[in-house]
Amino acid sequence: MNKGKKLYEGKAKIIYETKDKDLVIQHFKDDATAFNNLKKASVEGKGVLNNRISEYIFSNLSQCGIKTHLIKRLNMREQLIKKADIFPIEFIVRNIASGSLTKRLGIPEGTVLEKPLLEYCFKKDDLQDPLISKEHIYSFGWATEEEITTINKTTLRINDLLLGMFRGIGIKLVDFKIEYGKAWNKENKENEIVLADEISPDTCRLWDSKTEKKLDKDRFRKDLGNIIQGYQDVARRLGIMPEETNISEVNFGKTIPIKFKKK
Ligand code: C5P
Repeated sequence: MNKGKKLYEGKAKIIYETKDKDLVIQHFKDDATAFNNLKKASVEGKGVLNNRISEYIFSNLSQCGIKTHLIKRLNMREQLIKKADIFPIEFIVRNIASGSLTKRLGIPEGTVLEKPLLEYCFKKDDLQDPLISKEHIYSFGWATEEEITTINKTTLRINDLLLGMFRGIGIKLVDFKIEYGKAWNKENKENEIVLADEISPDTCRLWDSKTEKKLDKDRFRKDLGNIIQGYQDVARRLGIMPEETNISEVNFGKTIPIKFKKK
């Protein structure tokens, strides 16, 4: 599948058109940003790992009956996906208090929530993706009540499936962000809601079950170092990266080629 014109460039991904108007290519970059773009760096190998991890997770969710935008992974950095009209909403699920929840409400970091907490944020970089309520969504027509009911049900099911997937490999799923869009279904010739974007250590908080070591983007946000090792650890435990491969750790800002070393 040949890449056409660039349609959109985000902080961590680029979308290219293809010859098929209903399909696009999603390219995973190495760029990492945090705190609304205030902190930026290139983390060599991150795009490759996120592409693989997200493909693995989306394929598994799809096998469990979740409709997603993923058609197939094309190469190290790219996936062929359905072109989707993305809802301007970030759906955040929290199982354990961390990040903005602790800052906003003073809930101590690590507090296990009685049941998953679902939050909505308006996707608007200039406004720092503010927290919104369902009423905002309906008032401004960002999604209908029926769509939100469907999405909420799917989101909680995704949380259950991911909790199990990560628990099985010794990882606590603290929280994550997902996005949905409407994409054309060729078979039944109608638009349907699909899980879009990505699910990766960039968009989840993942802690080692025993040590609570962070294996996600918080390593970048909090300057903990060894970012790539965290992402690699997740990929290895998921069984999608052979034990003997290694992507060299990289210092922020430096450009070092990705190396797959055999021990
Ligand atoms: O920062 P906050 O605690 O609200 O993030 C909750 C979860 O959503 C984290 O896993 C974070 O990585 C993810 N997130 C994201 N993209 C955003 C905001 C949050 O992937 N724009």
